[in-house]
Amino acid sequence: MEQRLKFSKEASDSIHRALFILSRKQDNRIAYNGREYIDFSSNDYLSLAGHPELRKAAGEGLTRAVGTSASRLITGTTPLHALLEEEIASFKNKPAALIFNTGYQANLGIISAVSEKKDVIFSDRLNHASIVDGIRLSGSDFFRFRHNDTGHLTALLEKYRGRYDNALIITESLFSMDGDIAPLKAITELKKRFDSILMVDEAHASGVFGENGSGLTGAYDISPDVDIIMGTFSKALGGFGAYAALSNEMRDHMINHSRSFIYSTSLPECIISADLAALGLVKNEPFRRKTLLLNAEYMRNELKASGISVTGKSQIIPLITGSNDEAVRLSLYLREKGFWAVPIRPPTVPRGKARVRVSLTYNHSKETIDSFIDAIKKYNIRYG
Ligand SMILES: *Cc1c(COP(=O)(O)O)cnc(C)c1O
Repeated sequence: MEQRLKFSKEASDSIHRALFILSRKQDNRIAYNGREYIDFSSNDYLSLAGHPELRKAAGEGLTRAVGTSASRLITGTTPLHALLEEEIASFKNKPAALIFNTGYQANLGIISAVSEKKDVIFSDRLNHASIVDGIRLSGSDFFRFRHNDTGHLTALLEKYRGRYDNALIITESLFSMDGDIAPLKAITELKKRFDSILMVDEAHASGVFGENGSGLTGAYDISPDVDIIMGTFSKALGGFGAYAALSNEMRDHMINHSRSFIYSTSLPECIISADLAALGLVKNEPFRRKTLLLNAEYMRNELKASGISVTGKSQIIPLITGSNDEAVRLSLYLREKGFWAVPIRPPTVPRGKARVRVSLTYNHSKETIDSFIDAIKKYNIRYG
C-alpha cells in the first residue's frame, strides 16, 4: 500500500520520457543516482560489449586515427571496412555486404534506395520505427499487414501487387518489443509467388539464433531467398554499426543510391576492428547463445507457471500491462528491488500495449534470474 503511494507521483505522468544518466559497471550492473541495479533492459544479449577481446581490438584499431575523416565513397573505406564486409557476407551466406553507420541509417538508406514512388511496400504492422521512416522517405505506397499474419499479407498482395512495378516485403525476423518470430518460410514463398523483393531485419536475431549465430535466416536456411538481410553490430554483437547482406548488384545499387550511406562519414577503424572481433566470438563461442536461450526458456516457463502471460520464444520477454501507468508502476517496483527494466509505451508499441520489456543477457546468472522472477511473482500485475 505504502509503495503504491510512493510511486504514484511519477506514475501519473505515464507518457513523458526522460534521459537517465547511467554508468556502466561490469557485467550487468549499472549505477544510477548512487545506487547499483541489475540491467534487464540491455540489448547486449551475448554480453560481448565489455569483452576483453572487443576492447583489445578497438584499441588496436586506434593506432592510426580516431575518425576516418570522409565518407565511404571519398577516402573513408579502409582495408578493415572491406574485410568486415567480406566476413559479414560469409556469416550471412550472401554474395556481398555493405556496412552502414547505424541500423537506423541502414533501414532509411536501404528502403529508400530500393523502392521508389511508383513502387509498393508491404510491411509488418509492428516493424521498427527505422523501417517506418525508411518507407516514408521512399515515397512509395505502402500497406501494413497484421503482425505475423501471412493470410493478411497474401490478401494485400493479391489485391495490390499487380498495380505496381516493384514490390518490397519487409519484416523483422525476431520482433524487438514482442520477442516473437516472423513466419519467414511462408513469407519467402509469398515473395516468390508475387515476384517481390524481400528484406528481413535481423537486428535482434543476429548472434542469438542459427547454427553459427547468423540469425533466423540462417536457422531457417532461407538466406538465398532473402534479397536483403539487414543486421546490426550494436546489439548481440556488442559493437556498433550495421550492415546489409545482399547480392553484388544490389550492393552496387546501394553504393550509388543509398543517401544515408553516401552522405555520412564512415565508421572509425576502432569500431570496425571491434566488430570483427565480435563476429569471431559469435562463431567460436556458441555456448553464449545456447545458455542465453535456455535461460530465456526457463524464465518464460516460470512466469507462465505462475499465471503471467508471456509471448515469444526468445531472449526478449515482454510483460505486457496494457496501460502506460501500470507499465511505469511495474518498472518502478522492479527498480525498488534493484532491477533496471524500463517501461515501453506508445508510440514505440501500439496504444493499449504498454509493457515492461525484459531482456536477458548471457551474463545473467541463474540466481539473478531467479530473484528477478521472484520479484515479479510477488507483484500483482494489473492488466488493461
Ligand atoms: C535497434 C534496431 C534498429 C536500429 O539499429 P541501431 O544500430 O541501433 O541504429 C533497427 N531495426 C531494429 C528492429 C532494431 O531493433
